[in-house]
Amino acid sequence: MIYNDLGNTGIKVSKLGFGSLTMGPLQRNLSAFEGASLIEYAFSRGVNFIDTAELYETYAHIGEALKRIPREHLVIASKCYAYSKETALTSFEKALNELGTDYIDLFMLHEQMDEWTIKGHYEAIETFLGLKSKGLIKAFGISTHYISGVKAALKYPEIEVVHPITNRNGLGIQDGSRVEMEAALRAFKARGGGIFGMKPLGGGNLLGNIDECFDYILSQPYLDAIAFGMQSIEEIDYNVNRVMGLPIEDSLRIKVSTTEKALQIADWCMGCGACVKKCDHKALMLSGGKAIVDRSKCVLCGYCSSVCPEFCIKVY
Ligand code: SF4
Ligand code: SF4
Repeated sequence: MIYNDLGNTGIKVSKLGFGSLTMGPLQRNLSAFEGASLIEYAFSRGVNFIDTAELYETYAHIGEALKRIPREHLVIASKCYAYSKETALTSFEKALNELGTDYIDLFMLHEQMDEWTIKGHYEAIETFLGLKSKGLIKAFGISTHYISGVKAALKYPEIEVVHPITNRNGLGIQDGSRVEMEAALRAFKARGGGIFGMKPLGGGNLLGNIDECFDYILSQPYLDAIAFGMQSIEEIDYNVNRVMGLPIEDSLRIKVSTTEKALQIADWCMGCGACVKKCDHKALMLSGGKAIVDRSKCVLCGYCSSVCPEFCIKVY
């Protein structure tokens, strides 16, 4: 495996990060035991960097993995939507308790759009920085689907890491092109920031071009690591081999690149519209009293599923 410094944080991460969203209840819905087994297998192949979020509901999966892998051998990134001291402490304590750890390597604010969003969350940021000064958080960062989010992070030295959308098509970037995102990321890297990309396959929409997606990711020198959602041993093997430049058998390539995923909305949808409001990508709308999805815009993040009161949205 290739290991990189995550900017100036002092944290060393595998280039291939394990995105845990896809194993949790918003997508594949693996048990904690099954999820932990996948993490354990990825670890055996050199992956030490695990990404989660309060939203993903995968703390139990990672907590189970921590019973099998020494804590200091894993780098755990999590994120939440806290906006105040109280909500920041609640989210942080939930992460510690459910993961069964006494520190988090990288804690981030989730889905930050721009400087105004960051200012609006600054009480939470101050709280996280206080936890960092006590050694309970090793580094602080933000995740963002926006170029303006990365540009805003440039103005805040306390934001040590950004977790942006990074794929060859720019799929999911909300406010500009892939080229503009690359320029912002290069500037963040030049400042000494750590960059941990997400959605390298556009949430699965770019699976048909998986080789080109990897070529793109591996040719971006500013990327310290990239989170791939992995749901099977085959996906782990494919991704590790690809990052390492190892040969890949045709049978494995076919299996991984043809496992299509899509957002499914059950027919008991009540048309409340909560999912439409949640989707930053404007991929959902109401029609005939029910939610429908525009698959050309959907990046399969599954975030809409988390707000559906009827549990009718799944990605599979
Ligand atoms: S429709 Fe749902 S899964 Fe698709 S981009 Fe929007 S929030 Fe994400
Ligand atoms: S949140 Fe659920 S019930 Fe409401 S419109 Fe969306 S899919 Fe339908």
